[in-house]
Amino acid sequence: VPELPEVENVALALRDCLTGRRLTGMTVLFGGILEPSPRAVKRAILGKTLVAVRRQGKYLLLTFAEGPDRESGGRDGFARDAGPGTAHLMIHLRMTGQLYLDPDRAPDKHTHLVLDFAGRRVCYRDIRKFGRFTLLDSPNAPVHVGPDMLEIGFADWRDRAARRRAPIKAVLLDQGVASGVGNIYADEALFRAGVHPLAQANSLDDAALRRVFREARAVMRLAIRHGGTTYMNFVDFNGQPGNFRRKLRVYQRDGEPCSRCGTSIERVKVAGRSSHFCPACQPMTRSPRARGRIR
Ligand SMILES: [Zn+2]
Repeated sequence: VPELPEVENVALALRDCLTGRRLTGMTVLFGGILEPSPRAVKRAILGKTLVAVRRQGKYLLLTFAEGPDRESGGRDGFARDAGPGTAHLMIHLRMTGQLYLDPDRAPDKHTHLVLDFAGRRVCYRDIRKFGRFTLLDSPNAPVHVGPDMLEIGFADWRDRAARRRAPIKAVLLDQGVASGVGNIYADEALFRAGVHPLAQANSLDDAALRRVFREARAVMRLAIRHGGTTYMNFVDFNGQPGNFRRKLRVYQRDGEPCSRCGTSIERVKVAGRSSHFCPACQPMTRSPRARGRIR
């Protein structure tokens, strides 16, 4: 399941390879992924130039504008000078969505959309068909998508997270609090912070919250640099598997010894999701041991 680091790598690749290129062709093989309708999406973006690619949480935000115009969008990804005919498309890969750039294989039955950008081709493949390409009225993600976890400040995040009477793991997964953290990086962040996934957010002191916030960002930045985590059906934009998987310390390592203390990693359900943690490094009650950073 693509989380923030995986989507960030897709955004970087899209920006590098396709910004400034015109969408010259669009073949819809399964229209159910296009909102409000295949016809509306086609009418809005076909023939226009991709001028900006942004990411907020796990969402990709693409801006198209009239005419080939490399100046109207920046390499930084922010749309500028949005004139008439500007269209905004949000892509959410959900569970199994994959984007391939210039794939060397022919579209199969799971390929739902082929986009041609003046000589470069992007295929969208999605086994479970949960992903969506949605036209937006503005360049911004809908209000239910919280601020991006890499952009929000600690004080703002604490205001949103600290009063919650819910397990900290559930708060990290709540995309309305801050967006981008999914199951893998939530587990890794809590391990690195020494905080039990079931600890109530409103019971954590400021130091513990600060560690969770810092480690969530650190582990995702690290994953971005390593091309993300290959998991389930995710491969990156160029079809290369990410190599962060082997750096995971607790995720899906239940039964294996903790890399730090040797205690067996355990698994518990939190908010319906499997959570992996070290019971010694992440005790429910605060202890001196839980206060240090885990590396
Ligand atoms: Zn441990």
